[in-house]
Amino acid sequence: MGKNVFVTGGLGFIGSHTVLDLVVQDYDVTIIDNLDNAFPEAWRRMKELAGDKAHMMKFIKGDLRNFDDLDNIFSATKFDAVIHFAGRKAVGESVQFPMLYYTHNVVGAVNLIEVMRKHNVKNMVFSSSCTVYGNPERVPINEEHPLKALSPYGRTKLIIEDIFRDVAAAEPEWRIILLRYFNPVGAHPSGKIGEHPVGIPNNLMPYVQQVALGQRDALSVFGSDYPTRDGTCVRDYIHVMDLAEGHVAALDKLFASPDIGCTPINLGTGTGSTVLEMVKAFEEASGKKVAYKLVDRRAGDSVAVWAATETAERELGWKTKLDINDMCRDQWKWASLYPKGYET
Ligand code: UDP
Repeated sequence: MGKNVFVTGGLGFIGSHTVLDLVVQDYDVTIIDNLDNAFPEAWRRMKELAGDKAHMMKFIKGDLRNFDDLDNIFSATKFDAVIHFAGRKAVGESVQFPMLYYTHNVVGAVNLIEVMRKHNVKNMVFSSSCTVYGNPERVPINEEHPLKALSPYGRTKLIIEDIFRDVAAAEPEWRIILLRYFNPVGAHPSGKIGEHPVGIPNNLMPYVQQVALGQRDALSVFGSDYPTRDGTCVRDYIHVMDLAEGHVAALDKLFASPDIGCTPINLGTGTGSTVLEMVKAFEEASGKKVAYKLVDRRAGDSVAVWAATETAERELGWKTKLDINDMCRDQWKWASLYPKGYET
């Protein structure tokens, strides 16, 4: 019998790619998603991609803020572990509507932990973010770097990490891995699933994609006078397929390591790229011109962020295999096959 994993937010960008990887590795998966930022069409395409393993995935529409929904699911199925992706993730929105973030993200996580305790499921992989490092004091950023939140969104990630640290300290039978992602981009190599931002994209690569497709006029490059090789900010972009593999590696690690406690692990490539380098890579991959204008810096942006990857390599035996050209190639495939994403 394969192991049974409960995946929250499993129809979202990172969740959907990870779920597919899990079933390929013979995990049985139950997804919960409230469809706030995900689409039933994603589920349809995931089943298509899973082929004869589609029966290993199950989707339940539900919301983590509703404890009874969770309790019913956990009463019906015995899970071996949980991967917790669900949550809201837009920094700007979190400043405007902080309570949306504290209720969805923090209350959701608290309910999830409570239901796990009630049903004695104590293996957890959590979607954290490099945002918990605040404005980095040094790069590459390792997991010992001081933690600081710069927005309500970032604060929810940090609060949830703190809750997990407290729970693991009080109840040593828990095994928790906090995965701190850098900048996830790209799409499934089939082009069938990818990132579908709702409204105007906040993130760089979805915006670049829409400019290449002619859906937007020009990218605004936020700041061109930073002390970097071309004046634009540096980030550690990671292919969503590599990221998905990192989750499977983390899950395998939980089952192999009774004493892991609560351990944070960065998932990044260890290499930074500038905004203009990403634009150029996307132009090359797509054969399209990406018009851009240089504008003022965006408030709160850090100059340069990239990951130290030694912990992931040591603890998970995982490192990235794909580079920014692969990310742009796969994202362009998704964009050109489905210019409207999951809208049908
Ligand atoms: N960026 C940009 N124009 C945009 C969106 C983002 O120049 O329309 C820049 C942003 O300033 C940052 C990088 O692209 O340097 C990555 O931004 P994103 O919001 O994708 O990720 P994060 O800020 O969380 O690293």
